Amino acid sequence: MLDLDKRSIMYLPGVGPKKAEILRKEAGISSYEDLLFYFPYKYIDRSRFYKVAEVTGNMLYIQMKGRILYYDTVGEGRTRRLVAKFTDGTGTIDLVWFKGLNFVTDKYKPGTEYIVFGKPTEFGHIYNIPHPDIDPVEQADQVVGGLTPFYNTTEKMKKSFLNSRAIQNLQYTLLSSLNWELPETLPPDVLSRIRMMPLKEAIRNVHFPESTEKLRQAQLRLKFDELFFIQLNILRTASLRKLKLKGIIFPTVGHYFNTFYKDYLPFELTGAQKRVVKEIRADMGSGRQMNRLLQGDVGSGKTLVALLSMLLAVDNHCQACMMAPTEILATQHYATVMGFLKDMDIRVALLTGSTKKKDRNKILPAIASGEIQIVIGTHALIEETVVFSSLGLAIIDEQHRFGVEQRSRLWKKNAIVPHVLVMTATPIPRTLAMTLYGDLDVSVIDELPPGRKPIQTMHRYDNKKAQLYDFLRKEIGLGRQVYVVYPLIEGSEKLDYKSLEDGFETFKEVFPEFNVCMVHGKMKAADKESEMQKFISGEAHILMATTVIEVGVNVPNASVMVIESAERFGLSQLHQLRGRVGRGAEQSYCILVSSYKLSNDTRKRLEIMVNSNNGFEIAEADLRLRGHGDLEGTQQSGEGLDLKIANLAADGQILQYARDIAFDVLDKDPELLSEPNRILNERLKILFSRKINWGMIS
Ligand code: ADP
Ligand code: MG
Repeated sequence: MLDLDKRSIMYLPGVGPKKAEILRKEAGISSYEDLLFYFPYKYIDRSRFYKVAEVTGNMLYIQMKGRILYYDTVGEGRTRRLVAKFTDGTGTIDLVWFKGLNFVTDKYKPGTEYIVFGKPTEFGHIYNIPHPDIDPVEQADQVVGGLTPFYNTTEKMKKSFLNSRAIQNLQYTLLSSLNWELPETLPPDVLSRIRMMPLKEAIRNVHFPESTEKLRQAQLRLKFDELFFIQLNILRTASLRKLKLKGIIFPTVGHYFNTFYKDYLPFELTGAQKRVVKEIRADMGSGRQMNRLLQGDVGSGKTLVALLSMLLAVDNHCQACMMAPTEILATQHYATVMGFLKDMDIRVALLTGSTKKKDRNKILPAIASGEIQIVIGTHALIEETVVFSSLGLAIIDEQHRFGVEQRSRLWKKNAIVPHVLVMTATPIPRTLAMTLYGDLDVSVIDELPPGRKPIQTMHRYDNKKAQLYDFLRKEIGLGRQVYVVYPLIEGSEKLDYKSLEDGFETFKEVFPEFNVCMVHGKMKAADKESEMQKFISGEAHILMATTVIEVGVNVPNASVMVIESAERFGLSQLHQLRGRVGRGAEQSYCILVSSYKLSNDTRKRLEIMVNSNNGFEIAEADLRLRGHGDLEGTQQSGEGLDLKIANLAADGQILQYARDIAFDVLDKDPELLSEPNRILNERLKILFSRKINWGMIS
């Protein structure tokens, strides 16, 4: 009706084309709706006035009522600033500006009574307030609404006079032009069931809070709204898929599976592996397409589960493929699978970017004819030249490195969508899993194969390297191998590569008696491969690398993982890296090396690593400390988890509630066709139509 999502912000009085462009680029605000859903990130209580005499250096934002005595310009060049002496009769304080000096002296006159708002800082025993907000006292009624919202703004926005206050003014302009009326997003029965504020009241209070309590209720309603529609979207997609997508039925457990299981499986499956294989078998026999996420810590034995599932597909005259994110990993999977299947009559091929043309020319027709039963590879598998005869199962390892779009290309390789098993070793916190993968069924391997000794993790400062070298020398002397990993972070690649290369030189000097090799992303694939091979064969004692080894190489003799600049890694990433050791029978070690100067948060994060070996525990802690925006799995998921108000670390209960309600709504009306539910359908369109509906296919 109002089509707030379609009305360009450009036409809001006070905006215009220039500011509209900045709002769009810097804050993602293109429409009226975007503006209304651009929420403050904090509020400051402006119900109290402070006296100048009360001011101390460690106060947060305060406001005072008084007059400017006089202006003065101080300093030269970059330190040139405008200082106003401000008094309320109890003392004086400096108001300071570094920019817009003329504007200030024109606008705020000495002698006039003003309300000044800002954060006091101490400079050489004198208190001052840099760039305060100033309002004439007569406007106090409009300005001082108790709680003042603060909106995120960037430097560019501020330069164009789009500071926090200006954003609030725009909200005011917009809401008053709508007579403070907004269409509801929830149908009456849902609204009365959840007993929350109507949307219009929530939007009004989030921008112009009447009281702390109203603000709390407004935030609750808006968080619910946000999470509810995400869940409604995911659950609807899942239920439509279940209704519509038939799966290839794998009724038989046949020759391949049974022979392997009875004659060639070198060890007993763990209880968790058995349970998961059962779940997968049930799915693939059900007649609907499987979409399953398999979570299991590094080393929990996912590869074997994958192999058994692929054998099931082959037993049912289908092909299976397994896609890994890197060449090294694909090659290693291929070697592992070939190792397991060497005595069986089954055809397996490896297909990666560096497969020679000659081999490729043989492999492709054999995949197309169905002669090759299992294909293991990288992204090369989703190229258009790869045509399957009958792809029944697609497995994706280390999922977070594949975008949703890439996954979907794989599904198109068959007339009937193949069963899909996504494997990840990044344990995902429950709330995040519900939000990102809420449409997938989840299996968890929560048990490691027997006989593993827990990895010992230590934290060391990088000014005590000598001790570290002694330790490494001792371990290598015992016949073990060592990984040394350096961070590689977008934006600092040059320096990061240099650290690795410097480290490599140092290690060669410190350990002349050992072989040291190095792998990083800028090397040619062939060089990478040969360096890697030196380590896998045991010829090299120490492998120095950027995070390329993160995703799953298996060298059981490597028992020490040294992580340089550990403070720069995320917890989940540290946990992944640590999982590279501890695969053999020996005691393994992970040594986190960091600088001595650490923030409290970072120290806490490293402490968690030292104290816990549990991936889920670590993932939850990571979510609490860093928020979901920085978590692996979110940036690369392709779903763009861009929450405006809810916080997955703090709002788990609201999320669960929203999911339950969404579930009930869909249970009664799966396609949301009833009259009251029509607004839900419309809202979903507004919120999710910009994205392609990958949900149906992944
Ligand atoms: P993941 O892919 O989950 O990180 P892998 O599948 O690579 O783990 O398994 C790690 C190691 O454990 C491999 O060497 C594998 O052969 C071994 N393994 C897997 N399952 C078992 C089991 N049930 N008993 C003993 N060893 C196992
Ligand atoms: Mg693996």
